[in-house]
Amino acid sequence: MEKFELMTLPYATDALAPVISQGTISYHHGKHLQAYVNNLNALLPGTDFEGMPLVDIVKKAEGGVQNNAGQILNHELYFGQFTAPKENNVPVGKVADAIKREFGSFEAFKDEFQKKGGALFGSGWVWLSADAEGKLVISQEANAANPVQKGLRPLLTFDVWEHAYYLDYQNRRPDHLAALWQIVDWLVVEQRYTE
Ligand code: MN
Repeated sequence: MEKFELMTLPYATDALAPVISQGTISYHHGKHLQAYVNNLNALLPGTDFEGMPLVDIVKKAEGGVQNNAGQILNHELYFGQFTAPKENNVPVGKVADAIKREFGSFEAFKDEFQKKGGALFGSGWVWLSADAEGKLVISQEANAANPVQKGLRPLLTFDVWEHAYYLDYQNRRPDHLAALWQIVDWLVVEQRYTE
């Protein structure tokens, strides 16, 4: 059977520093995400999910298969949306227009997104997604859940599991979330929104 593989990062492990350190990226990608890949590959043989695309497994599976498949999809979207830190890093294109239209301003959007990420109890993810009509939705998802399970199209996500920030920010999750805006690759978000 074909096995899932660890995604290749689209940047060097030190490219996001100091927002996310090389150490955090190395462990988060090379150890945590690799473990989810290994776990899923070990769980799939003999199940109905063998050979199914990842996103379908996330939508249909439960228990350990869903948890590990969800974490692979979540991290592929997460690691795939960053680039080297930039000052005054702002959205572009149609997603920039939609953010302004639906949240009033980029500042108001960031504020709501960070608040939802900061308020999420325990481990999980905060997401920006589009619904079937293209309307933007901010949601909190616990543990390994992904907005595709609710019929939404994920555009942007911040990981609020402690492994995403503890080496660099310890307990200061809000500071970590506020810093992440410097490294969002808005071209990727625009591509996800318009495709
Ligand atoms: Mn993570």
